[in-house]
Parts: sequence; C-alpha cells; structure tokens
Amino acid sequence: MDSEPWERISGAKLAGFGLGLAAFFALLAVSEPGFVFGLDHANLLFHEAGHPVVVLFSSRLETYGGTLGQLTFPVLLAISFWRQRQALSCAAAVIWFFENWLNIARYMADARALQLPLVGGGDHDWNTILTRWNILEYDLQIAGALKGIAWMGMGAAIIWVSWRYWDDRRHPPIEGDLSLGKF
Ligand SMILES: [Zn+2]
Repeated sequence: MDSEPWERISGAKLAGFGLGLAAFFALLAVSEPGFVFGLDHANLLFHEAGHPVVVLFSSRLETYGGTLGQLTFPVLLAISFWRQRQALSCAAAVIWFFENWLNIARYMADARALQLPLVGGGDHDWNTILTRWNILEYDLQIAGALKGIAWMGMGAAIIWVSWRYWDDRRHPPIEGDLSLGKF
C-alpha cells in the first residue's frame, strides 16, 4: 500500500484546502484559547465517550480515557485517508488531531487552578493524572509543551501538503494514467 501513489492535488483543491485552513485559523484566533466553537464541542463529546469505553478495559485507566477518546477519531480518520492516498483529507485529519492538543493543554493547564467547568461534574482528569505521577506542579509547563507540539504538528501537516502539491507539479501525470482513470 505504501507504493500506491497519492492522489494528485489540483490547484483548485489546494485553494479549497487553503480557504478551509484560513477559516479554521480565523476561528481559532477568535476562540477562547483551546476551545474552538463546534470543533471542541465535538472533541468534548468524544472525550466524554472515551471514559466509559476505556473503563471497560481497565478502571485504573479511566482517567486517561477522555484524552484517548478525543484523539482516537482524528487518528482513525488520518489512517483511513492515508490508506486511500487522499493527501488533503489526511492533512485535515492530522490538523484536527493536533488542534485537539490545544484543547488538552487548556485542560491540563487547569490542573491546579481547577477553574474549568467540568461536563461530567466529577474528577478533574489532569489533576488526578498529574497528582498520580507526582508532577502536578508542572501542569503549566507541560501544557505549554503540548501547545508547542500542537502548533508544530499543524505546521508539519501544512508543509507536507505544500510539498505534495509541489512534487505533483514536478511530476506531471503520464498520459496513459489519465486515460485509464484512477479507481
Ligand atoms: Zn475527562
């Protein structure tokens, strides 16, 4: 499957992706840091679904289930698009994955402050986890590192798409390929 070529990125598709990206970053800029309207509501939903799913396997890991839950969907999507060789959709899923890290960082940074309203009303995941690991005092630093990873990950996805587009221009389609179509 690795030898399978990526679907070519047309100029029109790249423009659409760029517009979507611009809208996404505009939304990010006007949103409360770490909580993008709509997107993070979905993330929250997957987060809350993650706890009870993980508890089926291990009650000790329940606290981690929310974070795992919110990361699972974008990962599955990214893998699926990777296998289908759809670069733009794959990049969008990767950007969603790393946007999640901003949301996770927001929650982590609250581990000592305990100011965020919790949907479940129960335990604060990161207060519990960081206390368990004895690193609660580093909540802000770790959250800062997560934010850095989030931005680097989103940046890497954008660079990768740009590179794919540029690589497509260097390798024009072979005419035989076009007439055969691609399934
Ligand atoms: Zn949770």
